Amino acid sequence: MTAKKNMAPDADKIYDLLILGAGPAGLTAAIYGCRANLRVLVFEQMMVGGEIASTNRLDNYPGFPEGINGADFGQLLEQQARRFGAEFVSASIEEAFLEGEIKKVVTSRCLFYGRTVIITTGTVPQLLGVPGEEELRGKGISFCATCDGPFFRGKEVAVIGGGDAALQEALYLTRFVQMIFIIHRRDKLRAVPYLQEQVFKQPRIKILWDTIVKGFYGEQKLEKIALQDVKNAQTSDLSVDGAFLYIGRVPNTGIIKGVEVDGHGYIITSEEMETSLPGVFAAGDVRRKFLRQVITAASDGAIAAMMAVRYLG
Ligand code: NAP
Repeated sequence: MTAKKNMAPDADKIYDLLILGAGPAGLTAAIYGCRANLRVLVFEQMMVGGEIASTNRLDNYPGFPEGINGADFGQLLEQQARRFGAEFVSASIEEAFLEGEIKKVVTSRCLFYGRTVIITTGTVPQLLGVPGEEELRGKGISFCATCDGPFFRGKEVAVIGGGDAALQEALYLTRFVQMIFIIHRRDKLRAVPYLQEQVFKQPRIKILWDTIVKGFYGEQKLEKIALQDVKNAQTSDLSVDGAFLYIGRVPNTGIIKGVEVDGHGYIITSEEMETSLPGVFAAGDVRRKFLRQVITAASDGAIAAMMAVRYLG
């Protein structure tokens, strides 16, 4: 791979635009880039849609009065991007060399070249960093209620976090599970009032206020969660079959080198999605911004693509 990396590419092997990530930001950028006649390649690691693909219901995107399943929404975006000629590669990105006129992206399968790049790698789940979290991942600990909820039919589970994601996914889990304990470290939820009202009305959801997780325990699979009350320091165990972690997300920028990021690792861009490197733009949840929503990701993607068009001249 190293020898290949240093070879000069043939002009016809260089894409106008490489898009790193196939969530709403990346797919919208692909639609806009292709419609402006750019040759566009989109990288996706697992499945199109990004984080939204693991969301059961996207309820606040304009134009879908009844809401839409997140995976279905991702597929519609992909179809639309393909209709305008976007190419896709399913591979995990190992390294990205974004300085210089020709950008290089190294994947597990091949080396790709582009004149511009839009980084739309999104975010990954934040971890608690407590004992048992890594060991019991996939053995009762999950980050995706939509994917794993049906495995817990008739069981008792915990949801950790008090934001929109925790509440939305707890509500979704009521379709399958017998009882849900929302474990929240404060005495007030962060989620929007609409979701709070739905949760307070749901008899199969109980909120454990002012409570933190000290560890996850079980032999072959999760059996119990060690808890601590933050007000009186009392500890207790909660027996559950599953735990869904929704304590926020962190930017997915491990493979990105050379672009300026803030103290939390989010990419710093201008209003026009320009990063600190010429010809490199960032869009969606991976960039520093006020509101991380599908609609703002799509908006970022459109702007980034049109800036790539302008950069190419
Ligand atoms: P979030 O809004 O940052 O909420 C994270 C929650 O986890 C907070 O309640 C936080 O507690 C708690 N938390 C964080 N670190 C913790 C720790 N170490 N230990 C225990 N608890 C911890 O994250 P999110 O819910 O994933 O949402 C992320 C973004 O996506 C938000 O902008 C949200 O609006 C958006 N989103 C929107 C929707 C929707 O519109 N329907 C759905 C999902 C996500 P504190 O409250 O005490 O800080």
